[in-house]
Amino acid sequence: MAEERKAARKKIETTDRMNRVMADYFHDLNEAATTGTRKIAWCTSVGPAELLRAMDFAVYFPENHSAMLGATRMSTDLIPVANAIGYSPDICSYLTADIGAYLKGITPLSRAFQGIESVPKPDVLVFNTNQCRDVQDWFAWYSRELGVPSIGVSSPKNVTEVTDAHIDDVALQIEALIPTLETIAGKKLSMDRLRETVDLSRECTELWKQVLETATSAPAPLTFFDGTVHMGPAVVLRGTQVAVDHYKVLLAELQQRIREGVGAVEDERIRIYWEGMPVWGRLRQHSEMFSALKANVLASTYCSSWIFPAFDGKDPIRSMAKAYLELFIVRSDIYKENYLQGMLEKFRIDGIIYHDAKTCPYNSNSRYGMPQRLERISGVPSLVISGDLNDLRCVSDEQTKTNVEAFIEQIQEGK
Ligand code: SF4
Repeated sequence: MAEERKAARKKIETTDRMNRVMADYFHDLNEAATTGTRKIAWCTSVGPAELLRAMDFAVYFPENHSAMLGATRMSTDLIPVANAIGYSPDICSYLTADIGAYLKGITPLSRAFQGIESVPKPDVLVFNTNQCRDVQDWFAWYSRELGVPSIGVSSPKNVTEVTDAHIDDVALQIEALIPTLETIAGKKLSMDRLRETVDLSRECTELWKQVLETATSAPAPLTFFDGTVHMGPAVVLRGTQVAVDHYKVLLAELQQRIREGVGAVEDERIRIYWEGMPVWGRLRQHSEMFSALKANVLASTYCSSWIFPAFDGKDPIRSMAKAYLELFIVRSDIYKENYLQGMLEKFRIDGIIYHDAKTCPYNSNSRYGMPQRLERISGVPSLVISGDLNDLRCVSDEQTKTNVEAFIEQIQEGK
């Protein structure tokens, strides 16, 4: 049996700074909502946030809120509340947890941040179905409930190569949002502001990429579990100087660790790739489980999904369209397998773990033979663990632990 002992990952000092950045973001949103000084847009995680920011909307991301519901382990009790009004336990547990929280009138924001009583009420809901249909259904519910418009982009799926025709389609849909948004914002879109915002998103994305790629070093200075927390500003503040400034500080700390040979996991021996969503309510347990086995889960599709190399302020709308289309989740299995093979090589991965999340088929890539195909091509062994992002009733801790321990032992024996 693999050696087991309690171990924690080494704390990243910039975490305290990040917590302040996130607190400022939520207080700013709350001020906009309670004073009415700025209009509020809800946006899906890879929706047209740049457009909304350039029009001075305060931008709120319900998926980020749902991840907080998961991480605080509030979600499992809230999901049945949405099930009771007809939203199936089999659909996205971000959606069901978030709607359940709304119906119960609770939010982790009020526990985390003094003075915040509720999520900010939207003036408009803006989605992009590049990730899944559930986001549109999610916003449709709030649209009916709150009487606010839900508008967005219907994205092509299963894209192998992003073509001009795809980009034209999505760019036209983004442009078509502008008149409605201008009416709600009460102002015209400034193309100069949009260019600046897209350039800031590009800068954020480049820094975030460099942050994640510090893990190509051995030992890696950060873990996937750090990444899921530190991606907060890249998710909710892309297109702002605040996010850019923050990632410069984080990157400097991780580069310092590399110079000093400091790893996030003590005595790192096994390097693991995580494919799929995190189990938000088990981040600490999973981090400790892998650290105790001297295994570092150091790279992931999930954290890397906030890298958008296409952003270009010189051609803001088309580059936004291209960036949103190049997202991993939008792509075909052929593209995904090539991408993953590249990641396994770049990060010198010993094993890959697929999280088959019960309520998110879109982020579960183990259901159509991919682990077997990729293992044949790359020679890197894989393990599929069953679970969920937010619904802990779908998670078996004992089974996960047993399977992960056996998997790490198998990798060690093969080294
Ligand atoms: S991608 Fe998955 S987790 Fe994200 S909103 Fe869609 S169904 Fe939910």
